Amino acid sequence: MNKIINEMINCPNGHGEMQITRVEKKLKFRGVDITFQTEHYLCSVCGIEVGSIEQASVTQRVISDAYRKAVGLLTSEEIRGGRKKLGLTQADLAQHMCVGIASLKRWEGGIIQTKSMDRALRNVLQGQVFSDVYTGNRSFSIPRVKLVLREFELSLQRKILQDDKGLFSAKYLWYADMVAFRELGESMTGSTYARLPLGPQLNNYRDLIDAIKEADESDAEPLTSEEKKIISKISMVFPKDKMVFDVSHREVIVQKKAIGNIIPYLDAAELTGL
Ligand SMILES: [Zn+2]
Repeated sequence: MNKIINEMINCPNGHGEMQITRVEKKLKFRGVDITFQTEHYLCSVCGIEVGSIEQASVTQRVISDAYRKAVGLLTSEEIRGGRKKLGLTQADLAQHMCVGIASLKRWEGGIIQTKSMDRALRNVLQGQVFSDVYTGNRSFSIPRVKLVLREFELSLQRKILQDDKGLFSAKYLWYADMVAFRELGESMTGSTYARLPLGPQLNNYRDLIDAIKEADESDAEPLTSEEKKIISKISMVFPKDKMVFDVSHREVIVQKKAIGNIIPYLDAAELTGL
């Protein structure tokens, strides 16, 4: 828990500056026993305890979060953290849930959401409703990932599936998906990408890389001529691995994300490399 109280106050009984004390409190809230940490001022002379307004509002959220944790609802931190991980503003998330932004501000501020609103929040934050932004309006298809990479190999006239960690092939794939979303309204593979230390990468690529290598691309929906054109253009702009690696890494839509965060397809409008 972060420090709540920043200012010092004097004892109302005239004993000078009071001490900030961290305390564990237990209480029954909505019929549930909860324990939480808080801070208050304590006079070491007369023992009087005083709260502050600043502390009171934080304590309200702490109590609310302890309660939410106890009954299995998302906490303020989980809602805010989940939203930020998806790169969404409060207004974005509210819009996708069809609720007012005021509701979202209240839930993140400590007001407890109903069970049905909690389900709606989880649906969005866990990507069940938000799949368009995650996957670019297409269902994720491993055979299609393989097919797109094979098309890149034809176009680049060299192998890119062999690089063991998918380091460079992922960058080609990322541009193909993002540019297809921007120009055709849907991605090529439905892949979800995150910003990793070395630039954009398939989310959970470690779990996917073997499946991609083993996939049969003939199971995939064939590429359209527009899709092939995009792949060919990317190959011409970035004939070498190092080029696609460097340029993708420098994209603003990548740099603005924290490591580990999802890069939403809607950001494709701000690509500068292609
Ligand atoms: Zn005192």
